[in-house]
Amino acid sequence: MKSTTIAAISTAQGEGGIGVIRISGEEAIVIADRVFKALSGKKLCELGGYRAAFGHIYKNNEMLDECVATVFRNPKSYTGEDVVELSCHGGMFITREALRAVLDAGASPAQAGEFTKRAFLNGKLDLTEAEAVIDIIKAKSKNAARAALYAKEGALWKKITDIKSTLVNTAAHLSAWADYPEEDIAEVTEDSLKEVFNNALTQLNRLLDTYDKGQIVKEGIDTVIAGKPNTGKSTLMNLLAGRNRSIVTDIPGTTRDIIEETVLVGDVILRLSDTAGIRETGDTVEKIGVDLAKNRLSNCGLVLAVFDGAKPLDENDIELINSLSDAEVIAIINKSDLKSELDEKYIKSKISRVVKISAKNGDGFDELEKMISQLAGTDSFNPGEGILANERQREAVLNAKTALENALNAVNFGMTLDAVEVDLENAIESILELTGERVSDVVVDNVFHNFCVGK
Ligand code: GDP
Repeated sequence: MKSTTIAAISTAQGEGGIGVIRISGEEAIVIADRVFKALSGKKLCELGGYRAAFGHIYKNNEMLDECVATVFRNPKSYTGEDVVELSCHGGMFITREALRAVLDAGASPAQAGEFTKRAFLNGKLDLTEAEAVIDIIKAKSKNAARAALYAKEGALWKKITDIKSTLVNTAAHLSAWADYPEEDIAEVTEDSLKEVFNNALTQLNRLLDTYDKGQIVKEGIDTVIAGKPNTGKSTLMNLLAGRNRSIVTDIPGTTRDIIEETVLVGDVILRLSDTAGIRETGDTVEKIGVDLAKNRLSNCGLVLAVFDGAKPLDENDIELINSLSDAEVIAIINKSDLKSELDEKYIKSKISRVVKISAKNGDGFDELEKMISQLAGTDSFNPGEGILANERQREAVLNAKTALENALNAVNFGMTLDAVEVDLENAIESILELTGERVSDVVVDNVFHNFCVGK
């Protein structure tokens, strides 16, 4: 059965130098030949793979734009099918019209992520590599982009494949030994099984350990800027965000709602909220803000607790210090450009990370940046080690781990090798789900659902 030939605009919607319409499928080259005419007069079907031609794209026999057509021949293409990429000028109208012409010529519109899904279904990528494609596109920091690129190049796949091969070999050995006792097959000892299971468990645990750090690198840290009114929280937020975002005034209590912003500090993504100052207040609207702020303190990953260095500590500062819970905290003593009046020793006795800055002129910002990178672990992050990138992958590894622990228990309790084999098969099953070698259509659809059209 012939698969449909799909097409979509693969570049971002908007104005740009180039816009690319990608066509993939058995008819890709024939369809492209219906809309594209090379200046050389050659048809695209006469070209080999990795060849390009310059010419024009036509819609209803009318010249639409200049165009470079690049031909990729199955299987040496992104999707593993015949692919043509038509690069025209990058304008909303031109790219849409060009796509329209391709669809009129016989292609079907591609669904979100359908090119990458075809690459996965054609064996060009495993599921972890396909997931990395979307992570590359969505990366907001250098480390996030590097981790995704390594995953796309197979860093995680390789790690999983090593574990998988050992388990598959053990399962094969186990069933051969149990099923063909008359054959001269080496005995499977309890000790050898325990060693294999323990080694695999160590590796799975190591992988699970990468998840939290990977999430911090990829998604960033939920960060709350807290402090009593007028300490300079909004000014700090603006310094971090690099523009005038919060309302900065001399009147205490002007930041009433929680203002959110995602910023890059060094190479750490911070999802910032500048909350209302924590203090006793009779104003109902402000009180809602204060309650929200307190709630955020206990549910975030990092608190930037801001103190006014030019004023002595008061009960509001003490209340803030006392409301800090399990989250990581950096105490920021602000207004270092003014004469110091604050009891810094007290703050240092309560909070281990303390930095002095002037949010107004940026002094001390480098030290704050360094402290945040250390805390996020990005300075020691190794993107090449193979990192679990999302909840689906983590779940599969957790399932494999549980199955292997059951297998180990079965050996330890002297249960029959049949019972061990069942658990071992379950562990292998979970690992095959992770790579996508044995995975339901629902899961696959879910993975590609997050993609953009054209990728
Ligand atoms: P918030 O209520 O905590 O959000 O405080 P704001 O950011 O609105 O700042 C309150 C006042 O302190 C404003 O007049 C700021 O210009 C001033 N301010 C903030 N940071 C500094 C600083 O580092 N040095 C000095 N001298 N003034 C600052």
